[in-house]
Amino acid sequence: MAPASAESFVLSHQQDSNSKESVGPASSLIVSWAISGKKVVVVGGDQAAASRAAFAAEAGAHVTILTEHGTAVSSALRQLLTTGKFLVHETRAFDAADLRGASLVFVCLTGADRDRARQIALLCRANAVPVNVATASELSDFFFMSTYKDQVCLCFLPLTPAIILAAKLRKQIVNSIPTHAGSALENLAKLRQHLKLADQSATSNNRRMNFINKVSETWSVETLADLTDSDISALVKNYLSQASDLPRLKAGTLRVIRTGFSGRVDHLTVEAFRSLSQAELVISDNLVSKDILDLVAGDLMVVPADAERASNSVIFAALRALELGQHVIRLKYGSDHVDVEFDDELSVFYQKGFKAVVVPTAFVAATDSKPYQLNFQRDEKIVVQKSFVKDEITLFKDIPNTIPKAIAIPAAIVSKKAPIAAAGLPKFISGEDAAAHVAFALSDMSFVYQVIPESTIGESPAKWAANGIKNAKGKSHKVTQVETRVGAAAVVHGAAHDGSAVVVLANSGALRHMLPSMHRIAQEHLPVVFHVAAQGIKKDPLFTVYPSIADVTATSFTGFASIGSGSVKEAHDLALVAHVSASAGKTPFLHFYDGTRIATEQSIVPIIDTASLAKIVKDAGEQASALKSIPVPDLVENVMNNLAEQLGHNYKLFEYIGSNTAETVVVALGSSAAIAEEAVGRLFGSNIINVGLLKIRLLRPWSARHFLGALPRTVKKIVLIDDSKEQGSGSHGALFLDVTSAFYDSVWSLPIPTILKGGFAEGVENFNSVAVQLFLENLDVTDYRFDFEIVGTSTVASADSNVFEAVIWDQQSDETEKVANFAVQLLEAQGASNVQLFQTSSSIAVEPISATHLRFSKTQGAETAQSAALVTSANYAAVHNISFLSSFNVAASIRKNGTLLINRAGANPTIADVSADIPEATKRELYNRHIRIAVVDADKIAFNYTLFRGNRKDYRNLALVGALAKLWDGVDAARALAEVEAGLEASETDGTVFRTKIGALKSAVNGITVFDAPGEWAFASADQQLPTFFEPTFGFKKLTGLDNEDAGEVVGKIVPKYAPALPIMFKEAYGLKSALRPDAAEKTFKVTVTENRRLTPDSYERNVFHIEFDIGSSGLKYEIGEALGVYGQNNPDHVQEFLDWYGADGSQIIRFDRRNEATGTTETEFRTVTQLFTEVVDIFGKPGKKFFQSLIEHTTVLAERERLGFLASGEGADELAKLQEEETVTFADVLQMFPSSHPSIEKLLSLIPNIKPRHYSISSSMNVHPTSVHLLVVVVDWKTKSGKDRVGQCTRYLVNLRPGKTVTVSVKPSVMKLPPSHTAPVIMAGLGTGMAPFRAFVEERAYQKSLGHEVGPMALYFGARHRAEEYLYGEELEAYHADGLLTHLRLAFSRDQKEKVYIQHKIQDDSEMLGDMMLKDGGAFYLCGPTWPVPDVRDALVSAFSNSMSENEASEKLEALKEQERYVLEVY
Ligand SMILES: Cc1cc2nc3c(=O)[nH]c(=O)nc-3n(C[C@H](O)[C@H](O)[C@H](O)COP(=O)(O)OP(=O)(O)OC[C@H]3O[C@@H](n4cnc5c(N)ncnc54)[C@H](O)[C@@H]3O)c2cc1C
Repeated sequence: MAPASAESFVLSHQQDSNSKESVGPASSLIVSWAISGKKVVVVGGDQAAASRAAFAAEAGAHVTILTEHGTAVSSALRQLLTTGKFLVHETRAFDAADLRGASLVFVCLTGADRDRARQIALLCRANAVPVNVATASELSDFFFMSTYKDQVCLCFLPLTPAIILAAKLRKQIVNSIPTHAGSALENLAKLRQHLKLADQSATSNNRRMNFINKVSETWSVETLADLTDSDISALVKNYLSQASDLPRLKAGTLRVIRTGFSGRVDHLTVEAFRSLSQAELVISDNLVSKDILDLVAGDLMVVPADAERASNSVIFAALRALELGQHVIRLKYGSDHVDVEFDDELSVFYQKGFKAVVVPTAFVAATDSKPYQLNFQRDEKIVVQKSFVKDEITLFKDIPNTIPKAIAIPAAIVSKKAPIAAAGLPKFISGEDAAAHVAFALSDMSFVYQVIPESTIGESPAKWAANGIKNAKGKSHKVTQVETRVGAAAVVHGAAHDGSAVVVLANSGALRHMLPSMHRIAQEHLPVVFHVAAQGIKKDPLFTVYPSIADVTATSFTGFASIGSGSVKEAHDLALVAHVSASAGKTPFLHFYDGTRIATEQSIVPIIDTASLAKIVKDAGEQASALKSIPVPDLVENVMNNLAEQLGHNYKLFEYIGSNTAETVVVALGSSAAIAEEAVGRLFGSNIINVGLLKIRLLRPWSARHFLGALPRTVKKIVLIDDSKEQGSGSHGALFLDVTSAFYDSVWSLPIPTILKGGFAEGVENFNSVAVQLFLENLDVTDYRFDFEIVGTSTVASADSNVFEAVIWDQQSDETEKVANFAVQLLEAQGASNVQLFQTSSSIAVEPISATHLRFSKTQGAETAQSAALVTSANYAAVHNISFLSSFNVAASIRKNGTLLINRAGANPTIADVSADIPEATKRELYNRHIRIAVVDADKIAFNYTLFRGNRKDYRNLALVGALAKLWDGVDAARALAEVEAGLEASETDGTVFRTKIGALKSAVNGITVFDAPGEWAFASADQQLPTFFEPTFGFKKLTGLDNEDAGEVVGKIVPKYAPALPIMFKEAYGLKSALRPDAAEKTFKVTVTENRRLTPDSYERNVFHIEFDIGSSGLKYEIGEALGVYGQNNPDHVQEFLDWYGADGSQIIRFDRRNEATGTTETEFRTVTQLFTEVVDIFGKPGKKFFQSLIEHTTVLAERERLGFLASGEGADELAKLQEEETVTFADVLQMFPSSHPSIEKLLSLIPNIKPRHYSISSSMNVHPTSVHLLVVVVDWKTKSGKDRVGQCTRYLVNLRPGKTVTVSVKPSVMKLPPSHTAPVIMAGLGTGMAPFRAFVEERAYQKSLGHEVGPMALYFGARHRAEEYLYGEELEAYHADGLLTHLRLAFSRDQKEKVYIQHKIQDDSEMLGDMMLKDGGAFYLCGPTWPVPDVRDALVSAFSNSMSENEASEKLEALKEQERYVLEVY
């Protein structure tokens, strides 16, 4: 209740006090009189005069004290005068003129001055000014009792002549009398009588009065009103026993709940939740979120939290409630522990006999997660006394002028709500799926408009529909993917027109093409609901996506209502609000959420199941349907209110959070609001800025009324974060216009606040709450006239020890992102209910990359576990692919004392090995932040455990999960590992596989090497600045649509950087399709490296390696003897180096338009320059003479032109040959030799040919390895004449491929076919890697044998330099030989003995046998490898045949065999 004004009185009275008879002198009326700012006259100089003057001054009155001549001035008055603000003291006689404007008069004249007192009293009455005469109650219009310093007692004496003023006052007063006052007075009178009976001693008068005063002071009016006869007897007994404390009549319970900082309801424990909804009185800090306050069913007092403790008024109110036996909760914002030493407030309760119990909430550390009683033992007396001293000081100011049930505290939020319980069950889900779930349940068909290539919108509903999941009506739901083109959504209109419940699931980019259909849908009042992932695409080289509602606001005038969600939970809840409102109001709704964040963010939120949705919608729809003719905003508000219980939150069209006296209010929408909320939460009570946040939910129709109604009256400045402005557009966003016009168009009687508008600066790093906080903190010192931009900061929010965060860096082709998902399962199993996962990815790099941001709290319901920002203070970061280290400062997102896991190849790494991988600036940061560095070789573990079977990727992920479980301090490692094991046990039916997996897991856990950053890293250079994160993009790389290109020159042109966005937007119109290598003439496949093993010792000069690829679902098939074409890529570092040197912008977009003769269409391909030079252009290949010639016209320096001319001429042929053959110069070398020769990039593309695929004989049989293909490769390297080391283009690429990398390949048919008959003899001669196809031959024959077929003899001649180093596949060969499959194994290691022994020598030795095999038994001979042994082998065969024929005939026979494909050579 508001304080009474000076002209009115509020007083307690008997309930039936309307009747004059009931009001006798004994039952005085107690009046609370607010006299602030009014004139009060005190006549007198004694102590009584001083106390009245003090009372009036404290009440804020302007007090005039008149001490008449001859009246003594007491020391109390003198002392008071030294402090008095509103005190005027004059020594003169009271005069009638003093009554002018006076509100009250106190007359304190005693003794001889009694007559004078009477005179003055009569004068007052004559002037109708209430008067109190200290010594004459019969002359007093009211009593002033010193005990009730804050209250004036006004007594009407009904027997005296009626006083108009008093009558008038009484009428007014009686109307507002609290119900209990009369009973309380009666009970006090009763008590007084009983006390008198019990203690009749005349000298006890004072004692009795003091006791009554104590009772009335201590207990609330309600308690007093409720006193029973036995209570009164108990009081009398207490009086007689002279006990220092009053007896306890009833005892309520006092509970303390700490809410944390986030204000999330779902962070409360069940106990806290229940307590809140059951409490009769809740005293809450004003920073506690409305979500939590909405749970309060009883009385709610909200007090400023910036004060160290609640005011005395609050304590007294609580005490009274406790005395009444009520449940009282003290709701405290923040996570500080309740400590009696610092919590004066609680010690007061204790002193009064009420012990507080702390109800745990999620952030309470595990150690004190059980409810406990506060320990008041410690230094109890001192604490209590201390608190009372404070009480004394502020007592009269703060005691409320009324009692609970109608509490009013300045700056308070008072609400009374029915208890709210969410109807959903917790589920780990993305925002997109949360909205889609509601949409799927509540409609018959979904139309999906996907305009961002990597968008997953509509995918889950398609799966649900495919799995036969039914909607809420129990019917099938149809999902249709629709191409976005001009006139889109006509089909939606048609379907809705036919009466189907229709939803649209779309990326916001599609909306602009739907406008005509949307108009029609709205005109026809069709309750269609659009669920839209809103985002913009920057026209920058990276095509980054950013949060934007520009497309949504473009639909403003279609007649659709639009409602925006800012979190995963909201995406679910407001989807429901949209559906109910749409069907109740017969109006279409557009529900939007942030497509860059909420769409893919995964959190655990309550999700209402389909059956419950059906019921909720039916009930809510019925309630809302009654209101269908009311304006849409009111309808939506009503729906929000009706759904509050089921959703666990009473949503508002405009939801205000923060100080009720805020002068600065941030107005924001969606995830911007979520970010701002974190900042505003931290600024509460900070004294830096008095700020609040207004979240916009209903964007259309814009309701200025609701908007203004939700703003605090105190607002002076509005900070509008406006996502509705299009990038690069100079105009205002739609939101700005809405907000501004609200103040002009509507009745806003207060001064119009200053409106600043702006948004986040570009870049993910800017989009965080610390940036907003700093921006707000500096708002007043920075001269923002109108526009602002929130820029990032290197400061990060101080890490909350209750919240565990991780950033996991993955290269998408590695498929290690699954580790994060696995981690979520572990966390859930450990009871973490507030896990949040958000993944950012970039496809612009040659290899698409991603970073997964994981957040959770170990304790139930921790408040800050959810955040809209990226993780910048991880306690665990994992670099699953070492390439990230060189591109990003991974340390910058790790908190102090955090852990960095690096997955890198190499056994027993030393810190020096690891140091070589890490850039200087990162090292420095690792050192400064005391980050421990952990190293694991997950690939090696995977390799070791999958030698015989198993998918290596799975094992690698298992190893990385093991590392995470062990290293992430939020996870209970032992429990997590036990859970992984239990999970494996449950899922693996094969005991061997289970044991192998456990082995891999343990091997990872035990194989982690941990280092501290060495001291010298403190001095590492900080010069090189690496970004903390990458900008999320979508992958236009996939937009290649070119199928038909002649191998050769690339012809393309640079186009504006936003060009690829067009086909992305209008896939169908542009005929967009994906192709793996559109530049390849042959069919290509994408395969994944699963093994890359060097076969020759590290110390040996020749590096021969065995590489295996997983064919996966690529569709690749191969036959024995075929070769694999490998599309090798250039080393990205070398490409970057070259482009930097050439001054080329690698991010420029090149467009190719090519005519596809087969289809008669022109196809377009987009690539970045970097992509082209890495994947397509043979910049490090061998330049021909033509290149030198072509450069001449681009060369500006005369000497260079002359030199080029010479080399390209006949005269320069020798020199050119030297360059080409001896120096083996590359295209890049030549450009560097002639620096003035600088063709444009487009031109360069036309001068340099494409990288050609290299072929490798397949060394496996597909019958034996149905899912993989194997190669045997030797690294080609050489030294130029001038001493430079060179490595072959493709072998350099292959040798460096780690498992998990994907490679583009083709299959080349071959003449190396096995004879059609399995029994035909096979003779194989292989030199070095020429062995490759013969391994496949042997495997195939072994396979045939295993099928029970009879197989013919096989002879293998294998040649190499040294047995020890180059006996390729030696063990396998020996085994096949021992098995008898390989009937003849002839080895020729040329350099293992004095004389050189080659395969031709071995062939000669076997001439008789070979003659028989070839000539008698119809065998076939194969030679593979380098060309040089061909003549000698040929001669050896001819001589073998010559045993039975002439040499000529033998030669002819060999030619004939060649024709019959029985003498086959594959040499390279
Ligand atoms: C059917 C077939 C099967 C094959 N099977 C195998 C096999 O099983 N295993 C295997 O290891 N190989 C095999 N090869 C060879 C393989 O295709 C490659 O030729 C080999 O790996 C070298 O490729 P590269 O890209 O590493 O070297 P490249 O870069 O092509 O270099 C190859 C040679 O070209 C020369 N050269 C390169 N660049 C320049 C320059 N800028 N200027 C002048 N000269 C230059 C060098 O002398 C070098 O030795 C096979 C070839 C064929 C045709």
